Amino acid sequence: MTRTPALFISHGSPMLAFEDGPARRFLMDLAPRFREPRAFLVVSAHHEAEHPTVTTGATPGTIHDFYGFPQALYRLAYPAPGAPGLARRVAEILKAEGYEVAEDAERGFDHGTWVPLILMNPYADIPVVQLSISPHRDPAWHYRLGAALRPLRDEGVMIVGSGSITHNLRDLTRTEPGSPPAEWASAFTEWVHDKVETSALDDLLHYRDRAPNAVHAHPTDEHFLPFFVVLGANTPGEKAERLHHSFTYGALGMDAYAFGETS
Ligand code: ZN
Repeated sequence: MTRTPALFISHGSPMLAFEDGPARRFLMDLAPRFREPRAFLVVSAHHEAEHPTVTTGATPGTIHDFYGFPQALYRLAYPAPGAPGLARRVAEILKAEGYEVAEDAERGFDHGTWVPLILMNPYADIPVVQLSISPHRDPAWHYRLGAALRPLRDEGVMIVGSGSITHNLRDLTRTEPGSPPAEWASAFTEWVHDKVETSALDDLLHYRDRAPNAVHAHPTDEHFLPFFVVLGANTPGEKAERLHHSFTYGALGMDAYAFGETS
C-alpha cells in the first residue's frame, strides 16, 4: 500500500459546517484527491490533555463544544465509527516511545474533528480515532509525537492535524468575502508557507521566536500544535504542499497542508 499523506487543516469557526466560503468548498472537494484511507487519526486542538489521549470507543458521540451558535449547529452529528484496534495501536506505538498514554472510551469527537470531517466525508463511513494535544508541551515535543506515528501512514491511516494557521479570536472582524486579510495574519501565514517550502524545520519549531507577529497570530499555542504533529509524521524530504489558503473574519487563517504524495 502506498503511503497515505498527512494533512493539516484549519477548522475555523464551527459555522464552517454551514457557511459557504472558499475554505468550506475546499474541504468538500478534498476527498477525491486522495486514496480513501482505512481510518482517520485526527489530532484536535480542542482535545487538550496532560498525556497523549486516544479515543477508544467503538461509537463515539458528537461533542458540541461551543457556545452561542445557531441551534441548527447543535443538531448536527457525525456518526462515524471509532476504531478501537487503531486506538490500541496508537497507544502501543506511543508507549514504546516512552510516552505515558491515556485511553478514553467515553469521549466523542469535538468540533475540531467533526466540523472538517462532515465536509470531507459526509457519509461518515470511515472510522475515526481522535488524539489529544498537550498545550504545556512545546512544538518539538509534538513533532516527535508525530514522528512516532509515521508508520501508520504505511497502514492506510490518514493523520489529520486540525487546528488553525492563525488563531487570535480577539482580533477578528466581519469582513466582506474577498476583502484583504489583516497584515499581521498574512505575514505570519506567508512565513509558515515559506518555511514549509524550504523545509526550514528548525525555524518552524522555533516559530514563537522567529516568525513575524507570532504572539499576535497565536496568543497561545494550542491551535498550532496539531501542525507540528503532522510535520513530524512527514518523512524528511517528502513532498509538502499548501493545498489551501484563505482567511475568514479578516484574520482567521484557513490554510491547509498535505505532506506526502497526493494525486
Ligand atoms: Zn478551534
